[in-house]
Amino acid sequence: MTQLKYFRKALLLFALWSYPVLATTIFHKIDVKLSPDESLLSVLDVLTFPDQLCEQPFVEFKLHAGLEPVVLTPGVHLSLQETVPSRVPLEVYKLKLPSGVCSVEISYGGEIEYAPVGESSPGTIESRGVFLGGSTWWYPEVEGRLLAFNMTATVPKDWSVVSQGELASQSKGEEESEFVWQELLPQDDIYLIAAEFFYYSLQQDGLLAEAWLRTPDEQLAEKYLKVTHSYIKMYSESIGPYPYKKFALVENFWPTGFGMPSFTLLGSSIIRLPFILYTSYPHEVLHNWWGNGVYVDYGQGNWSEGLTSYQADHDFKAMRGQGHEYRRDALNNFSAYVNKDNDFPLAEFVGRFDRASSAIGYGKAMMLFHMLKVRLSESVFSDGIRDFYAHNLFQKSGYSELRDSFEKVSSEELSRFFQGRLRIGVSKKLRPLKL
Ligand SMILES: [Zn+2]
Repeated sequence: MTQLKYFRKALLLFALWSYPVLATTIFHKIDVKLSPDESLLSVLDVLTFPDQLCEQPFVEFKLHAGLEPVVLTPGVHLSLQETVPSRVPLEVYKLKLPSGVCSVEISYGGEIEYAPVGESSPGTIESRGVFLGGSTWWYPEVEGRLLAFNMTATVPKDWSVVSQGELASQSKGEEESEFVWQELLPQDDIYLIAAEFFYYSLQQDGLLAEAWLRTPDEQLAEKYLKVTHSYIKMYSESIGPYPYKKFALVENFWPTGFGMPSFTLLGSSIIRLPFILYTSYPHEVLHNWWGNGVYVDYGQGNWSEGLTSYQADHDFKAMRGQGHEYRRDALNNFSAYVNKDNDFPLAEFVGRFDRASSAIGYGKAMMLFHMLKVRLSESVFSDGIRDFYAHNLFQKSGYSELRDSFEKVSSEELSRFFQGRLRIGVSKKLRPLKL
């Protein structure tokens, strides 16, 4: 490791300790046993609340309905508040903690299986594999709170488990295998991916690149491991240090293109398309800075897809002199799919659900960042990006924090620039965009 890298690591560590978010993080010590053939999970979760939360008269959490949580900590009272009907039926619980008690042990379990349709499934436990995340509500989630975790997952003997953070240990027994994953940096989700995997890795410059494939394919793994290191080096230099210790390509049995903190979950057919290495893959790697490093404050709109598309998809084209074509296509998509009936402001974009929402949340937001770069100059834009990352890592941030950073580095007043572009839809006349 070079001196510069030591310096960067020290800076990152200092930045993390100085973030107020650590004092508000909930810690989960989770033991989960998965029975894929029965679509069952059985969990013991010890939640440790930060002081400011356990000083409150009660703590509310949400959990997938039907998992029948039982509190094992003496003196703690648990009551069911309401059931929320949705694709994933939810139950809202209230925990009443006796004075001085900040840790609660909760046991629960049951069935989870939502057959994947296209890219979408909120979560599934089945013989082909397991996908659990925030959308599954498979652990007690306290709204608006970031978390850290240590997770011991027990799976059938030949299975492996992948999650955020570091693999602390693994062991194989007669019938079961156990994987311990830990992430102490603030997270907004706990993912658990499991299946029979073939494992490849490449350690370089203090970073571990991993590939978890569903069939053995050393050549394919090598390609991904190499570009992982080069993309992370490139973005670390241009934005700020990569926030995690590993990055993993994880092959999925349904066609996803998901970016999670420190890994990406891509479908089997997707990872074998040769152009993915230079299109979707850098996009998913970059999400570790935008969306999985600086988290999205959805109340201000999801800015992370626009910025990630700009600095990955767009910039890779621009490196080959085709940036203008990428922007022209984005504008064409916008005119083809967005009309006054389906248009909405950038500040209301959460995630794409059709071509119009994609043209807005990805394409139009991408153009906002391009217009900002054209207005401020490349070097000031780059300073703004670095400032935004340094001050918002592991916090939920939005366009107002982006504006703060760009105003700081440019000494320009940018409220009109941002407000206009966040609110104006196609129904109100847009000025012609500069390609
Ligand atoms: Zn994305």
